[in-house]
Amino acid sequence: MTTKRPPTALEKMGLNSPMALALHLPSRYEDETELFTIQEALGLGRFHSIQTQGVVIRSQVMFHSRRQLLVTIEDDTASLQLRFLNFYPSQQKQMAVGAHVRVRGEVREGYQGAEMVHPIVRAVTPDSPLPASLTSVYPASAGLSQAIIRKAVLKALQDASLKESLAEFLPPKLMAEILPTNDWPPLQDAITYLHQPPADANTQSLLERTHSAWRRVQFEELLAQQISLKRAHAIRRERRAPSFAKTKQKAASIEEGLLKVLPFELTGAQARVWSEIGLDLSNTFPMNRLLQGDVGSGKTVIAALAAARTMDRGYQAAIMAPTEILAEQHYLKMQEWFEPLGVKIAWLSGSLKVKEKRLAQEIIESGEAQLTIGTHALIQDKVSFAMLGLAVIDEQHRFGVRQRLEIQQRVGSELFYCHQLMMSATPIPRTLAMTYYADLDISVIDELPPGRKPIATKVVKAARRDEVISGLHDWLAKELQAYWVCSLIEESEVLQLQTAVESFEQLTQALPNFKVGLVHGRLKSEEKAAVMAAFKANEIQLLVATTVIEVGVDVPNAALMVIEHAERFGYAQIHQLRGRVGRGSADSVCILLYAEPLSLAAKERLQTLRETSDGFVIAERDLSLRGPGELLGAKQSGDAMLRFVDLQRDAWLIELAQIAAERLLAEHGDLVKRHLERWLGSRTEFLKA
Ligand code: ADP
Ligand code: MG
Repeated sequence: MTTKRPPTALEKMGLNSPMALALHLPSRYEDETELFTIQEALGLGRFHSIQTQGVVIRSQVMFHSRRQLLVTIEDDTASLQLRFLNFYPSQQKQMAVGAHVRVRGEVREGYQGAEMVHPIVRAVTPDSPLPASLTSVYPASAGLSQAIIRKAVLKALQDASLKESLAEFLPPKLMAEILPTNDWPPLQDAITYLHQPPADANTQSLLERTHSAWRRVQFEELLAQQISLKRAHAIRRERRAPSFAKTKQKAASIEEGLLKVLPFELTGAQARVWSEIGLDLSNTFPMNRLLQGDVGSGKTVIAALAAARTMDRGYQAAIMAPTEILAEQHYLKMQEWFEPLGVKIAWLSGSLKVKEKRLAQEIIESGEAQLTIGTHALIQDKVSFAMLGLAVIDEQHRFGVRQRLEIQQRVGSELFYCHQLMMSATPIPRTLAMTYYADLDISVIDELPPGRKPIATKVVKAARRDEVISGLHDWLAKELQAYWVCSLIEESEVLQLQTAVESFEQLTQALPNFKVGLVHGRLKSEEKAAVMAAFKANEIQLLVATTVIEVGVDVPNAALMVIEHAERFGYAQIHQLRGRVGRGSADSVCILLYAEPLSLAAKERLQTLRETSDGFVIAERDLSLRGPGELLGAKQSGDAMLRFVDLQRDAWLIELAQIAAERLLAEHGDLVKRHLERWLGSRTEFLKA
């Protein structure tokens, strides 16, 4: 009888084969190959870790504010104090007077002169040899020590199977043609080198991951990713979707009707993206396009045009938005544009009464509803369409990959997929588009509708809040409107609500001649809609709001926005919020109030936001801060894909990998599967999204 043993800590991290261990590459290295005298260490160790050794001449437990161990070591050149705030009796014993120790750490100026706080300590003899290679430090987990990982990796590297798993099979001719240099080591050598770099290795390039051994590994990893993305691309082209070419009976079409009722002409950029999208819709495979355009660039009308063409061909269209307020805005707009044309629109949100919801579901299912607007409710509830031809997903980064897939299961047919149009005001940097998003076509609206004014952004200390309020008074007196956005408190919706109510009361008192309104996430949707309608009608002059207004709200006469505790918001949030103003003819202003003390990161963020309103610049900054996962709305996917590549540092490699992937697919189909399995194993699933 066999009993199933629980997985070891190594297995829990997925380190269950020699190959997995071989690819568990160090996250950094420590240089223990060099030893300095204490005198040298005192000078050189100021900003980075340094290794020295000596004999213990004093060891005492002291009480300052807490119990601590102070040890002094000495060699022929000088002495050095070591300080330990937490220590075990075994350490005290290890560093007894007369013992010889090798220590590594940073030298800092303490109360009693130079000292090392919590150095790494090793008992040695005066002539203990130094290690021959740099010491690898591995990604670890609780309960899994460096020592255990090192031992397992060492064993794995000697495993006979590894020769086969890491065999060189990329055609040398192809590699030579593509790679800029031929000094990249073979894969197996590269991996061994990265685990055990020799003492004379270029430590800096190893740490920065620009060493040729790293390059080799990064290239292979990117190659696997590019191949799988290209395959996903091919798979989509084999899928079926209904083709919506432009209808011939022009006069009677909803599309023509819409173009007639629009109170404006499309901008050049809008016309261009609409023709790109129109072409996609005429294909017999599903569109998978991202429409990218800064806040206020006019994406909504493009969604409406795509919906119109879909409806003209007798299929249903749906528009899904991440918040109730945004979805409602779309609903109102679509009613305004489409109802005069006799289009039947369904509204579906989480806050509908059971009966209303059932009614909406019925007309969606029967096909009577030509256009459906809604929130997540569109995929959460038991909705299925009679014949869905187009799904528009606004602010797509707020949805996960899974939710975008979900809509495919509601189209009403097993025979075809629906076209998908994603829209986002958060631009995707090029490097990201080339990797994670390679099977997504992208259209960009790079022009704002005419008459937009730039937004002047000011960064103001919270201490000057009263001045801001009196400025607000003058502003409202000019018959303009304004937003007051309350601080973001992510941990607690209740706290956020509380601060909003406080600000609302304070502002109501301070501005007695004006009507102040309050909107927040806890209001019922009718209440929210009523407040928004009153604001739009200028019955409310100042709207105090939590971040529920973050996306999509459109009131051109409101050209001033104050954001409280701006330091708590991220780049994208402020950029989105700020996009609510600057839509009318008045000069627009955004005031970022911040509370001190300001962290360095927050300071830089606010400064950047003051200096630029270019969504691309802001997105790049955001990416370098947060990593790609959050921008994609698919955190789970990104992390698993690229382990050794940094999209910013290694951007130039992506292009090489792209070329190599194309050539490999075209000329060496037999190698493709082998390469994918080596690098991705089971992690390829999400790419089909
Ligand atoms: P976003 O891209 O942020 O979703 P919207 O679609 O909400 O932007 O458009 C912002 C505002 O610009 C709306 O009031 C819309 O009616 C208006 N708008 C859109 N396109 C044009 C245009 N070509 N000319 C003038 N105004 C436009
Ligand atoms: Mg929008």
